[in-house]
Amino acid sequence: MQRLEPGSVIGILGGGQLGRMIALAAAQLGYRCCIFSDVANSPAEHVSEKTIVAAYTDLSALDIFAASVDVVTLEFENIPEEPVKYLAEKVAVRPGPNVLATAQDRVIEKKFLNKIGIVTTPFEPVANLEGLEIAVEKVGRPSVLKTTRFGYDGKGQVKIDPDTGLETAFSQMGKGPGILEGWVDFALEISVIVARGMDGEIVSYVPVENRHVNHILDTTIAPAGVSPSVAAGAGSIARQAAEALNVVGLLAVEMFVTRDDEILVNEIAPRPHNSGHWTIDACAISQFQQLVRAICGLPLGSAGRHSDAEMKNLIGDEVKVWPKILEEANARLHLYGKSEIRSGRKMGHVTRLKVRAGRGER
Ligand code: AMP
Repeated sequence: MQRLEPGSVIGILGGGQLGRMIALAAAQLGYRCCIFSDVANSPAEHVSEKTIVAAYTDLSALDIFAASVDVVTLEFENIPEEPVKYLAEKVAVRPGPNVLATAQDRVIEKKFLNKIGIVTTPFEPVANLEGLEIAVEKVGRPSVLKTTRFGYDGKGQVKIDPDTGLETAFSQMGKGPGILEGWVDFALEISVIVARGMDGEIVSYVPVENRHVNHILDTTIAPAGVSPSVAAGAGSIARQAAEALNVVGLLAVEMFVTRDDEILVNEIAPRPHNSGHWTIDACAISQFQQLVRAICGLPLGSAGRHSDAEMKNLIGDEVKVWPKILEEANARLHLYGKSEIRSGRKMGHVTRLKVRAGRGER
């Protein structure tokens, strides 16, 4: 296994909080980071040695980036595939552009998962309004219309209820093409994050429960309160997907658990995931350090946890409670250094460790 020695430079595409936490984990192991972001003053830039601010399609900036780093990873999947392919011709990109291409398009992603025997929400591709009418006949109502690419946190999504007009829904979706998914009356939402090394070794974090508010992740509960068979099933789905995609790095798999304990995959993300932030404070090795280990050809670490935990995102004004959080003995506060509070913006998170009485109490 080709190992990148500490002191090497990790290039990160994207400058958000995920990039920031990758850079912090990289620093712990002696690696340096270079951020490529299309906005200045990003959360990752604050904690990294070098940042290149340019459009993701700026080839001369990509050339400088490729020449400055030893390996490239990404912290969000809404990057056009072409620049990532361009980079991959010059420097190792982990996970590779093929993984990105699959994960950034909801139709390609679901077709891929179904092909390898993983059950997803029922879906139909939607190219135009006529296509939406046909898709609604097949999938039924309620259902949800989503853009196939570049949507996040519920953006570009419209619920199709019994009385929803399709013309309005199609224009509300914004830039197509789209996908119509059957609405799942789930018991709970869970996710599993796996890390996969260059030698194919895989470690898996326990399934966690994710609660959303306004389509944005609000709280993650680790571990999820699911039966042992659902936990095992969810873990093997995530492993299977990571293997089939030949991921080197992380794969997060978001799933719905139905009231009959059926598991339906919603989407996959080949990067650190918000539902894995609890691993920083409650596990031997965090998702961020596993990513650094995987892409640098180091052995992976244990994904075991020393504590159960609950992670709460601090969204918009919620971040203002941060001084109170510091008073809690078992709370671990993380702020992302964003200068401006905006509604719906992830400003930080807090992980509350469920430590047994007598241990860690003030
Ligand atoms: P997504 O961007 O696909 O992760 O969707 C954001 C959130 O919307 C999910 O975490 C669910 O809470 C909800 N959602 C998305 N798709 C569906 C669906 N097919 N059925 C029910 N809820 C959904």
